[in-house]
Amino acid sequence: MTSLGLNIASDLRRARALGLDLLDAQLLLLHALDKPSGDRAWLAAHDDETLAPEVAKKFQGCVERRLAHEPLAYIVGQREFYGLSLHVDRRVLIPRPDTETLVTWALELLRDKPEARLIDLGTGSGAIALALKHQRGNLQVSALDASTEALAVARENARRLRLNVRFMQGHWLDGIDEKFDLIASNPPYVRTGDPHLLALHAEPEQALVAGPDGLADLRQIIAAAPTCLSAGGWLLLEHGHDQAEPVRGLLQDAGLREVGSRRDLAGIERCSGGRLDATRGIHEPLRRPGQARG
Ligand code: GLN
Repeated sequence: MTSLGLNIASDLRRARALGLDLLDAQLLLLHALDKPSGDRAWLAAHDDETLAPEVAKKFQGCVERRLAHEPLAYIVGQREFYGLSLHVDRRVLIPRPDTETLVTWALELLRDKPEARLIDLGTGSGAIALALKHQRGNLQVSALDASTEALAVARENARRLRLNVRFMQGHWLDGIDEKFDLIASNPPYVRTGDPHLLALHAEPEQALVAGPDGLADLRQIIAAAPTCLSAGGWLLLEHGHDQAEPVRGLLQDAGLREVGSRRDLAGIERCSGGRLDATRGIHEPLRRPGQARG
C-alpha cells in the first residue's frame, strides 16, 4: 500500500481510494491519533495537518486490517453498547444494537424490583450484565460464560467501568442451584453452515453457531430455566430473525406464561420471553411432558 502521511485530508482520501468507507477511515485515524471516536469534527478542523510518522504508521496498519475485513470494533478495541464503552477483541462477540432491545425489556420488567437478582448467560464482553448494572445500581447481577477468555474480557470491562457484577464460568444453567428474578441471554443461534457466517468470520464461532436449526442452545436454556427462576421470574432471550415462533413454542412447552416477543431496530422479532407463574410455581407445567409442539 502507498504510504500514508502527507496530511489528514489526503491520508483519508487515500484510505477511501483503497476501498474504506469514509466513516471507517475517520474512526481508524482517530484511533491512531489516540482521540475519542466522537472527535470527527477535529479531523475536519485540522485536515491540513501532517501526521507524525508513528501515527501515520499506526493508521496504515489499521487500514490494512480493515481492508482484510477485520471488524472495526476489534481494530479500535471498543464498541459502544447501551451507553457504555466496552473493550472488545477476538475473544468475544461484538455487541450489536439489536441486543439493546433485550436490555430495555429487562429494565421495564424490573422497574418495581430495584434489588432483583438476575443472570446473563453467555455474557461475552459482559454487555447485557454491565448495561443492566449500569442502569440500575442496586440490581444483583451475575454473568456467566463457558469461555475463560470471554470472562477475562467481561471482568476487565466491569473493573474499568467500576460495575460490581459476579462472574461465573459454566455451561448455561448446568449445576446452578439458585433462583433468579430474571434470566437474560443472547446465546449462539446461527445455523451451522449459514452463509451469513462468512460475514462473521472474525468472531468466535462458539458465540454464534448452534446446530443445524440454530436452536440447540436456546432449547437447553429454556429447558433448564424454570428451575432457576423465582416465582414470577422472567426468562428473556435473543434469537434469530426467523426464530421467534419456534422460541415462543419452546417457552410455552416449558410451562412459562405471558410468552411474547419484542422487535429490534429493524422491526424484526428479535427477543422472546416468558414468565414463571407467580402462584403455581414450576411443578405444574401447562403442558404435559411429551406433548410436543410442531
Ligand atoms: N446477531 C448476530 C448476527 O447474526 C448473531 C449473534 C448470536 O448468535 N447471538 O450477526
